[in-house]
Amino acid sequence: MHSQTVIVGGGMAGMSCALRLMERGEEFLLLTDVLGGRIMYSAGKDVNYGAYFVMSNYKHAQRIVEKDKRINPLDACFHKDEKTRFSTLSLHTIGSLLGFLRFISALLEFRKHYETYKERCLNIPQKEALAQDPYLERLFHLPAGDFIKEKKIEQVAADYVSKFAYACTGADINNITTVDFLNVSLGLLIPIYQLRFDQQAMTNKLGDHLIFDTIADITKGSTGYTLTATSGTTYEAENVVLATPATVTQKMLNLPEIRGACSLYVYHVAATLKPQYQKRGLNLFSSDSVLSLIARQKDGTFLIYSRKKDVDLSKICLEFKIIGTQEWDHAMYVYGGTYLDQTLGGGLFIAGDHNGLGLEPSAIAGIYAANQINRQ
Ligand SMILES: Cc1cc2nc3c(=O)[nH]c(=O)nc-3n(C[C@H](O)[C@H](O)[C@H](O)COP(=O)(O)OP(=O)(O)OC[C@H]3O[C@@H](n4cnc5c(N)ncnc54)[C@H](O)[C@@H]3O)c2cc1C
Repeated sequence: MHSQTVIVGGGMAGMSCALRLMERGEEFLLLTDVLGGRIMYSAGKDVNYGAYFVMSNYKHAQRIVEKDKRINPLDACFHKDEKTRFSTLSLHTIGSLLGFLRFISALLEFRKHYETYKERCLNIPQKEALAQDPYLERLFHLPAGDFIKEKKIEQVAADYVSKFAYACTGADINNITTVDFLNVSLGLLIPIYQLRFDQQAMTNKLGDHLIFDTIADITKGSTGYTLTATSGTTYEAENVVLATPATVTQKMLNLPEIRGACSLYVYHVAATLKPQYQKRGLNLFSSDSVLSLIARQKDGTFLIYSRKKDVDLSKICLEFKIIGTQEWDHAMYVYGGTYLDQTLGGGLFIAGDHNGLGLEPSAIAGIYAANQINRQ
């Protein structure tokens, strides 16, 4: 089978690339084993087992997923240890007011730079967009822990913000970059919503462009690429966009180094939580706990997130029944400062969240790849 462009991988990056190519009337196929990728639902299709939220500034990702229920940051409990915890609004928060103000001022400055950077990334490589902004480039290489000391926000970070970042990234703030830390922390400043993805509507929209298949191998010939699928079918294309997870892309292209990924294990339970977890819809933890988040769902069930497998749920629940579990060995690429080139030459592109955390950077990377095709 031949097509001018083949996109491999139907997650946020691949779907965003596909929609852009559709708008431009380009000839392409989207080959994927699953549509949605790390956007994934429970069997009943109503609880997100993968990506959970979008922020109001996820303007490109919101072409693929819709906003659902608004997440209320005031409905959160921040657990310091087994015995000590704070609500978002409490006397403890008032005592931390100065630190909060310093943090918000830093976030506002970051937001200005970050929004410009994202817009630039639609048309120039992420590496180049970063080089155009020395403020952001410095933060990309600065561990979040150092930024926190620099801004003198250690207390607010320890009590609140690092727990929010841990819930969003599954990683300790000392192991992530300041850009990722501030990017997720924007969720404390701007509206944040649970997301909804209509897989059937997207399948219909993509129509004949969409083929469910798994690509095992890509080879370059004199006139283009040959992609061999596990089904035995081969696909020929002049352009290939690899929108597979970074670990898959690394293997397929033999890439030397990529950012490291955190693992996340999701337990969906019908449960009566222990009293210390009952008061608020969101329970957030410090990174020395294996638990990163407990989130009450609309139907009264709970999602429990852990960075380790085989959590002892009896320590969290008075009684529980497991509805479903999902293991993400490579949930989010958060560790290290490696930057992958997105354009590899000869009509080969990489798209995804290899260089930036979450749905919006993935969507932008997909659109960037589409914007390069037939314009090289
Ligand atoms: C538990 C969890 C919670 C998260 N929460 C959030 C959140 O709340 N907000 C947020 O912004 N981000 C969140 N993320 C991160 C977000 O999900 C990802 O950044 C984003 O979905 C990545 O999209 P992608 O298209 O780059 O990759 P993926 O979604 O991984 O898509 C890759 C696609 O490639 C396909 N594929 C793989 N190998 C092959 C092959 N050989 N042949 C064909 N197809 C192949 C896969 O099936 C998949 O469809 C979360 C991630 C996890 C795991």
